[in-house]
Amino acid sequence: MDITLVEGDITEQRVDAVVNAANSTLLGGGGVDGAIHRRGGPSVLAACRELRATTLPEGLPAGEAVATPAGDLPATWIIHTVGPVHSLREDRSATLAACHRGSLRVAAGLGARTVAFPAISTGVYGWPLEDAARIAVRTVRAVATQDASTTVGEVRFVLFGREAYQAFARALG
Ligand code: ADP
Repeated sequence: MDITLVEGDITEQRVDAVVNAANSTLLGGGGVDGAIHRRGGPSVLAACRELRATTLPEGLPAGEAVATPAGDLPATWIIHTVGPVHSLREDRSATLAACHRGSLRVAAGLGARTVAFPAISTGVYGWPLEDAARIAVRTVRAVATQDASTTVGEVRFVLFGREAYQAFARALG
């Protein structure tokens, strides 16, 4: 599994699956979630509403992941995952790692070969970039070495802005 870094907009990635840093409602929000719903179009929201009406009446808990078609995005699938809100009182690193592991599990279930991730939790959820980058890279590397059966051959972190890109570049080493 290759890990690559791009500075740019995740909604422009031609990949099999883009990961969305969603919120528990799955009904859209700001940041990357808003951008994905805007570019993906109304079919994405319709698919999310369908999940809420069927398998996820309470919404998606933090750390879990679920797929929908990607609508008008150049990708095929969106994997929605809910990052933890950063806390100074409680260590929620395991939940952030679970987002990455769970998203890759869903991606493999779809047979995806290329998967783009944003810097989950580093926007309104307040996670310090350096630490989020370290957790994200470490978790993807662990999946790459532990899961021989995965279909995923490339994980592309798509970072919005120079600062995020550089934090991930440092984490990658
Ligand atoms: P969260 O609620 O998980 O913190 P946000 O969407 O607020 O999610 O932010 C997560 C990260 O996504 C931030 O680093 C933000 O700069 C970045 N981001 C926002 N829009 C885009 C986009 N179109 N493509 C890639 N990354 C984006």
